Amino acid sequence: MGADRHEVIVVGAGPAGSVAASVLAQAGRDVLLLDQTGFPRDKACGDMIPWQVVRLMLDLGMGEAVRAAHFYPIKATRIVSPNGAVFETRVYDHDGTDTCIVPREVFDAILWEHACKRGAQFEVVHVEAPIVEKGRVVGVSGRTGSKHGAWREIRAALVIAADGATSAIARALRRHKPPDAHRAVALRAYVDDFDVVDHMAESYFTRDLVPGYGWVFPTGEGCANVGVGMRLDLFRQRGRTLKEMLDDFLRLPMIARRRGAHSRVDRVLVWQLHFGSDDFPRIYDGALLVGDAGGFTDPLTGGGIYGAMLSGKLAAEAALQALAEGETRREALASFETGWRKQLWPAFRLSTWLQRWLASSPRLVDFVVNLLVRHPRLGQAIAERVQG
Ligand SMILES: Cc1cc2nc3c(=O)[nH]c(=O)nc-3n(C[C@H](O)[C@H](O)[C@H](O)COP(=O)(O)OP(=O)(O)OC[C@H]3O[C@@H](n4cnc5c(N)ncnc54)[C@H](O)[C@@H]3O)c2cc1C
Repeated sequence: MGADRHEVIVVGAGPAGSVAASVLAQAGRDVLLLDQTGFPRDKACGDMIPWQVVRLMLDLGMGEAVRAAHFYPIKATRIVSPNGAVFETRVYDHDGTDTCIVPREVFDAILWEHACKRGAQFEVVHVEAPIVEKGRVVGVSGRTGSKHGAWREIRAALVIAADGATSAIARALRRHKPPDAHRAVALRAYVDDFDVVDHMAESYFTRDLVPGYGWVFPTGEGCANVGVGMRLDLFRQRGRTLKEMLDDFLRLPMIARRRGAHSRVDRVLVWQLHFGSDDFPRIYDGALLVGDAGGFTDPLTGGGIYGAMLSGKLAAEAALQALAEGETRREALASFETGWRKQLWPAFRLSTWLQRWLASSPRLVDFVVNLLVRHPRLGQAIAERVQG
């Protein structure tokens, strides 16, 4: 294909886009992967990588990179209710595959490098909009290098939008932002000189944050990824900033007493999440929405990396089928819808129901955590179910 014409353009080289690009490139397709920034780059995240993600990386041929990066395994989890009840349970590995904590700077770079090694062509372009002709997406326009770079139009038979929760492509095709009740805002920071519980992920459902929560995820000795997140509509009602909420969280006695005299709160980042409770079209003539652009984040846990990578893979598989048939209209891409509805939608529905139920009263969280404390075997069984 010509310099500014490709078979597929993937916009965004986070987990969703890099996986989509690597599957397409591996199959020998001409794929252009665009991101507004080069890699490695940071991303606001709790850095919790569920075991299903690690398994997917191994399946996609990233075993060597995974082993070389020495991911930090999680072996236990602690849940604290608004009234201070504490439930702790083990986190099992799945055939040797652990849930891990990995800084996104490291994690995303592995996925991006894999896509490039498989043959995806990468360029730094700030994409501003899809090019739509006669109701069909035929490419993207944007600026090379940065928001102020040279204007550029690139064409393709198919565009896969993986440009995250504030996706310019999703907004243009959908014609509005996702409703607030299907979005969340969250803040992440790294805290050092901190007495972490080795290999334990801690979640705190405080009265202010429910059905969101605060977290302490250890990243290594004496250091943790700490953050707070909540549903956007409820956040707006509170009228407080996320930084104020983080400060409150750090003042909780269970947290404050574990910080040393030299403990610093560093690298504070805020970003949005787009929940799988949002039922809207993810397929258009000539375009697919994946990852946070398509709302593939779990509405209860806020975990979105698995949904991003799986939706990226399913989109690439649907694209391969459509390209083989020489047709990229909506109907030809329908296997993407069938695939994610089967593999992700049941969990999203359950999480949506639980999230709304818990949002109705923090007391329900107290009730549930107290129940788990009194019946640890039930708690363990539920935890295993939630962990997959
Ligand atoms: C504070 C916080 C904590 C979280 N914690 C966890 C967690 O612990 N575990 C978990 O599983 N999930 C977590 N999530 C959710 C998770 O981060 C996302 O679901 C996941 O990153 C989605 O991947 P993605 O590839 O769709 O989007 P992203 O990771 O956001 O990647 C999108 C890419 O698109 C690029 N891009 C954006 N706009 C443009 C543009 N206009 N032009 C070109 N490129 C563009 C960006 O630079 C970026 O590289 C958290 C989210 C937040 C905000």
